This record gives sequence, structure tokens and C-alpha cells, in this order.
Amino acid sequence: MTTPARPVGGPAQPQLRRLVTEIPGPKSQELLARRNESVAVGVSTMLPVFVTRAGGGVLEDVDGNSLIDFGSGIAVTSVGNSAEAVVARATGQLQRFTHTCFMVTPYEDYVAVCEALAELTPGDHPKKSALFNSGAEAVENAVKIARAYTKRQAVVVFDHGYHGRTNLTMALTAKNMPYKNGFGPFAPEVYRVPMAYPLRWPTGPEHCAEEAAAQAISQIDKQIGAQNVAAVVIESIQGEGGFIVPPAGFLPRIAEYCRANGIVFVADEIQTGFCRTGDWFACEHEGVLPDLITTAKGLAGGLPLAAVTGRAQIMDAAHPGGLGGTYGGNPVACAAALGAIDTMRSEDLAGRARKIGETMMPRLRALAQRHPEIAEVRGRGAMLAVELVEPGTLDPAPQLAAKAAAFCHAAAVVVLTCGTYGNVLRFLPPLVIGDDLLDEGLDVIDQAFDAVLTNTKS
Ligand code: PMP
Repeated sequence: MTTPARPVGGPAQPQLRRLVTEIPGPKSQELLARRNESVAVGVSTMLPVFVTRAGGGVLEDVDGNSLIDFGSGIAVTSVGNSAEAVVARATGQLQRFTHTCFMVTPYEDYVAVCEALAELTPGDHPKKSALFNSGAEAVENAVKIARAYTKRQAVVVFDHGYHGRTNLTMALTAKNMPYKNGFGPFAPEVYRVPMAYPLRWPTGPEHCAEEAAAQAISQIDKQIGAQNVAAVVIESIQGEGGFIVPPAGFLPRIAEYCRANGIVFVADEIQTGFCRTGDWFACEHEGVLPDLITTAKGLAGGLPLAAVTGRAQIMDAAHPGGLGGTYGGNPVACAAALGAIDTMRSEDLAGRARKIGETMMPRLRALAQRHPEIAEVRGRGAMLAVELVEPGTLDPAPQLAAKAAAFCHAAAVVVLTCGTYGNVLRFLPPLVIGDDLLDEGLDVIDQAFDAVLTNTKS
């Protein structure tokens, strides 16, 4: 695909990288000063360029810079910013009505989104959904539903997992700083077990899937008791924890254990879902069939919408009035989701994600060949990352990730970091990005590593 003149699903906007000031420019810096006076410190900003317009593969800022977007607002704008179908549907809805509260007087688009979710999520069993506003809210509700269904309390999560910032989801999240520190006490009955992390598995990646699953299962059996476990909640590929791809066999083994023990298997596909990894959902890669699946981010093209979707008999275990919220499944967000889903279907964005992976992976692997600081290139589809270490060791090198990210930012390419050790640089381009921009972004990443690692060595 060459760079479209008018990006699929984006506003007519030049698809180019353009630096007219330093980053952040003077106007952004003025806004940053205002921001610092009025916005709480706890809400951080990674790259303080204030955006005025975005679409296709670029973000434009108040100073007239145009940045290549390898972040998609943390895996949200997979269909592009202001995607045509999203804008058309959401605008039409805005003009008709903005809110009634689905729990008071319903509307069709909420139902249509639930129908689409039933169709798109794995498995042809009867399914139902409930809609919410954020990923964390979806995860909280998946746990509520699993507890109502099983009449059990314990929830099992994994090392390096990330599930949100509310009280329960902080408890489900592994990493202390910045997510949990000082914010306790956390919700009880949450248990953490080992995650299959091939790069760091003590006996080597080839043993990782089997041993990690065995350890996780043994801990559940011995420390909690399977009969007490309502849900196992796991990301199909871990996002914030470092784009950790479970080795083949791990997820199916955990899912099978859940099935054998009446535990609700919840796939958190909030970051991986909606074509990002080259399938509609990352769990499809190994044919894993979750009982419940949580989605958000890519679902509604940038509007806040989240969902829990799953087996009808599990979803219906919560009593009437037990689920919901004033804004959950807001009509404008639902209209946007229908537009986003149409775009994903008509443009085969899952195929496009695979194509992006095929372009990026060899270039990142070539980079790793040149730099021993890159311990691993991993990910799937358009969800890719490099993990940085001190050469010859597995000691995390978060300072290198930060420097490489800073170089990219200064050169007008938005990249994000992640990982328990902060040493992972991750790439999440919008799935509608043109090939030219993708290549140019990769060129800048090459330059970043050459500059940062060469300087570090000298
Ligand atoms: N689960 C996963 C896997 C996520 O990646 C995120 C967000 N990064 C969340 C849950 C929480 O979503 P939100 O920020 O919308 O609450």
C-alpha cells in the first residue's frame, strides 16, 4: 500500500513528517506551562506537544509540526484518528441525541455493538455483552460477572500483568511504580502467579511454556484451591508489562485448566483486540476460546467505550441492575464503534496489521543484529517491541529505552516505552498508516539506536 493521498478513514491531511520548531515548540511550551498550573501532577504527559489535528499516520501540533504516530494513543486509533466512518456515524448521532442512559431508555446502536461483538469474538456459542466506558471498568465488571456466576471469590492474575488504575484493577496489576505506590489498601482475594516470559525464563525459552503453566497451576492448586477461584484474568499478549508474547502452548494450557475446574477464563484484549495483532483478537492465534473477553481501546476509534463479552449463561449470572453505569455504552461512542468496526472489516485491517508486522519485524531484527543491547524483538502484527539490556546480560537498560524514545520524539516520531523494568520500546502504529510513513518512522528508529548506542559506547 502506498501512502494514500487521503488516508483511509482520516481527514484530508498531509501524510508527512515535518519539523518546523524544536519539540516541543514554543506554543506547546506555553500550553505546557498552563497545563502544569492546572492539571494534577499525577496525570503525566510523555511528550508535551499539543495536538490540533490528527489522521492517517500523523499528529499535527500547535506549532505546525507533523509527527509520525507509532503510538495510536496507546493502541486506540487503529482505524486512524477521525476515521471517516467514525466521524460520519458519531456526528449523525451527536445531532440526533447525545444521551438517554441505556438503563433508562435504550437505543439501537448499543444493541448493534453487542451483536457485532458476539459475531467478532471467538467461538460460535451464544454470547452477550455489557458496555462500559474504560478498560479498567470492563475488567472490574468481568470479575463481578465471574464471581456472580461461580459464587467464588478469588481472582488469579499474572506477573507483569496490567489491567487498569481503579482499586480492583490496581490490585490485578503487577507493577508498583507508577500504578500502585501509595494507593493501597488494595482489593483482597487477588493472587498472582508466574507468567511465561520466554526471554527471562530461568531454564531457557524452550522450557518456558510448559514450566510456567505448571508453576501457575501448582500455585493455584496449592495456595488458593481451584474450587475458590472465580476467574483467571490474562492478557493474550501483555501490553504495559512489556509486550510479552506467551510462548505457544501456555495460554491453551491455562484455558484448559480453567475449563476443567469451573474457573471463568477472562482474556483481557483491551490492548490486543480489534485487529492490532493481525487477528480480530490475539487469543485466536492459538485457538483459545475465552469464557469472557474484555475490550476497549481499538473498539470505538478514539471514543470511550469498553465491553465485556462472553458466554451468555455467564454474562446473565449478574442480577438485573447489577451491571451498568450512567454513561456505559454512550450512544455517540456506540455509533463510533459501529463506524470503526465497519472500517476494520472493509479495509481488512487485520490483514493490514499483519503486513505492518512483515515490514517492521525484519527491520527491527536487523537493528538487533547491529546492537547487542537489543535482547529481543517481539510482538505480533502491528504490536511490536524491542527489549533493551546491558550487553551480554539480561540486566534491564531502561535508560537506553528512554534515550531512544527521546531521540525519536525530537525527530517527530511518537514511540512509547513500557515494561516492568521500563526497558521496552514499543510500536503501535495506526493500522491505516501508509508504507512511506512506516518506512520513514523505522529510519528514525534506526538513527535513534545508532546515535544513542554509539554515544553510550564512546
Ligand atoms: N487492560 C489492558 C490490557 C490495558 O492495556 C489497559 C490500558 N492500557 C487497561 C486494561 C485499562 O484500560 P483503561 O486505561 O481504558 O482503563
